[in-house]
Amino acid sequence: MASIFTKIINGEIPSYKIAEDDDNYAFLDINPNAKGHTLCVPKKEVDKVLDLDEESYVKLMTFSRKVGQAIEKAIPCKRVGMSVIGLEVPHVHVHLIPLQSMANATFQNKESLTAEEFEAVAEQIKSHL
Ligand code: AMP
Repeated sequence: MASIFTKIINGEIPSYKIAEDDDNYAFLDINPNAKGHTLCVPKKEVDKVLDLDEESYVKLMTFSRKVGQAIEKAIPCKRVGMSVIGLEVPHVHVHLIPLQSMANATFQNKESLTAEEFEAVAEQIKSHL
């Protein structure tokens, strides 16, 4: 069965899209650690990041770097943290998280955004790509 992220990539489930290329797709995390929290997902559906073939891994990291640099310009933060967890969704994704403190990196403190706020954040990030 297709993963929830494959359904997002295929447009069957809505997302606040940030960027897309031939191999990867980026969109806002719906339950963000901080405003601007973004997921970068390879279109190829693989569960664990270390199981990606080397070419797909490098392409994902290059894509994530580009999206992360746009987040850093768009969202006031000390830096953008990058982590790969995957305990909830078994389809590789890189979390890009604007960090003010370690609290933003723990996945315990969440921020609520309205649909309008998600849209505004997505536009802000996209304007720096
Ligand atoms: P993990 O698999 O533990 O790395 O976490 C999966 C992440 O995907 C969580 O941060 C969720 O908030 C996020 N997530 C799950 N479903 C959606 C969705 N439909 N749209 C955006 N983000 C999602």
